Amino acid sequence: MRKSLSAFIGCLIVSLLCSAQEGEVLLRHICIIDGNGGKPAENLDMLINGDRIAAIGLNLHAKNARVLDLSGKTVMPVLISAHSHIGYVKGNSSSAANYTRDNLLQQLNRYERYGVGALLCMGTDRPLIFNGFRDSSRAGLLPGARMYSAGFGFGMPGNPPAAAFGLDKKFTSGDDPEIAGQIDALAKLKPEVVKIWVDDFGASNSKMPEPVYRAIIREAHRHRLRVAAHLYYLADAYKLIDAGVDIIAHSIRDQDVDDGILKLMKEKHILYIPTLSRDAFEFMYADDPSWMHEKFYKASLEPGVYEMVSAKEFQDNMRNAPSYNRTKTGFETAMRNLKKIYDAGIIVVMGTDSGATPTRAEGFAEHLELQLMVQSGLTPLEAITVSTKNAALLLRCNKDYGTLEAGKKADFMVLGQNPALNIRNTETIEQVWKNGEMIALTSPK
Ligand SMILES: [Zn+2]
Repeated sequence: MRKSLSAFIGCLIVSLLCSAQEGEVLLRHICIIDGNGGKPAENLDMLINGDRIAAIGLNLHAKNARVLDLSGKTVMPVLISAHSHIGYVKGNSSSAANYTRDNLLQQLNRYERYGVGALLCMGTDRPLIFNGFRDSSRAGLLPGARMYSAGFGFGMPGNPPAAAFGLDKKFTSGDDPEIAGQIDALAKLKPEVVKIWVDDFGASNSKMPEPVYRAIIREAHRHRLRVAAHLYYLADAYKLIDAGVDIIAHSIRDQDVDDGILKLMKEKHILYIPTLSRDAFEFMYADDPSWMHEKFYKASLEPGVYEMVSAKEFQDNMRNAPSYNRTKTGFETAMRNLKKIYDAGIIVVMGTDSGATPTRAEGFAEHLELQLMVQSGLTPLEAITVSTKNAALLLRCNKDYGTLEAGKKADFMVLGQNPALNIRNTETIEQVWKNGEMIALTSPK
């Protein structure tokens, strides 16, 4: 009896000690990039209490905190992709049949290992996530990156990519009563935004008529929902902004942006998601870039994809495709436009279109996007703010996420090297933290 009592007291003491330790963690001697855009701050301490940051400062003390000495490491917020698609790829295939709970979880875990802590799935979601999955994921109650959703989007019959996801809706005119009904149904799912595809995909398909997207935007706004548009052409950007669109979800790629559009985007507070990596993945494999043979890329792929993209036949086909030149030129235009749009003071937000096809590597794409933004002329710190703070702004979760500050959620990653010096250093991920806990210990390189 006495023995069991003392064992009980022993357990109690141990559990009290443990709970004190679990409650607070002190990271010491870190270099912090907080997401606000300022210079990295050296040799700071960060105190975590539960799932939130309690303090960041010099020589912090906390009596019962578990102390981790992270001398030489850099800490930055987790990345947020405001334009991705998940659940569809499996192996070399991309199809609605792959959209299962297990596949979604596996992909959310993959993103998280790559330091992508949240993503907005841009208009390709199916009913199974709206019975609690999306809400639990977003709240951080499921493993992996937090999932935000645009629900199901609106394209044209037979057009890529909506048709491939089984999502195209046929609206014949702006007066089609179906439009209001569809937006009512979508609004019940509480999507972050409404997604529309306004593109002729290189003149190979019919473009959504202006009266139709005007009606969709009007109905979405009636529900206080913002609208994000897939587009390609400058002329469509003008028309969509005039119709009230809120978010441009890809780069303007047919020509350089002019002063008129810059002024309009600024005035209307348009958020701009360049998705440079989306276009890069459509032509870069043809050049057999060195990154595609590195572990950091290969570890992000579904089985069979590396074999596919590294095969000479695949690369030759990509180079000889009729769309190759258009894609490459469009990409170069997109890079120039990003710099002009950023410099005009328009809010740029990171997004990649990752996961829409097996070659748009989930998790890796977000790091490539940072590098391509820097190649476009942004500084590494600007590209990081675009991928953390600005993305949280788009998702309207910036009260809790996007920057590292006292009071915010402790979702961050620990890097071996400082990305302010070289943006490729975001690939030196050693730890990923979510809700104040280290959830993955990785060294993909
Ligand atoms: Zn997309």
